[in-house]
Amino acid sequence: MRFRIHRRDLPGRPDLTLPKWNAAIFIHGCFWHGHEQCRYFRLPATRTDFWKTKISGNAVRDARAEDGLRNLGWRVLVVWECAMRDHTTATLETLFEQIRGGATYVDLASGGDHLEVRAE
Ligand SMILES: [Zn+2]
Repeated sequence: MRFRIHRRDLPGRPDLTLPKWNAAIFIHGCFWHGHEQCRYFRLPATRTDFWKTKISGNAVRDARAEDGLRNLGWRVLVVWECAMRDHTTATLETLFEQIRGGATYVDLASGGDHLEVRAE
């Protein structure tokens, strides 16, 4: 698959873009991107407000980038760090499957003992 990384001319500078598949892919660190209800995301006990503000700002920016990309006709695929950590093979297989599929939005996360796939 041909891909480019961090295209500056696209909203959110996606980690990977696959022009042939109209796919923009983000690999999100669960902490920095505020992955809710994820065991890899816990607000630090010190300077909690600072981190809360910072991380929710990142999440707002992510949502804006996703909207912008979709408005430009890109499909958006989000791979969370927890999915890669807990279910590496299944995550990659599912990602490639989804790239070839028709979903316009895909979110891959760890559900503990299984991979959680949300596709729209
Ligand atoms: Zn996570």
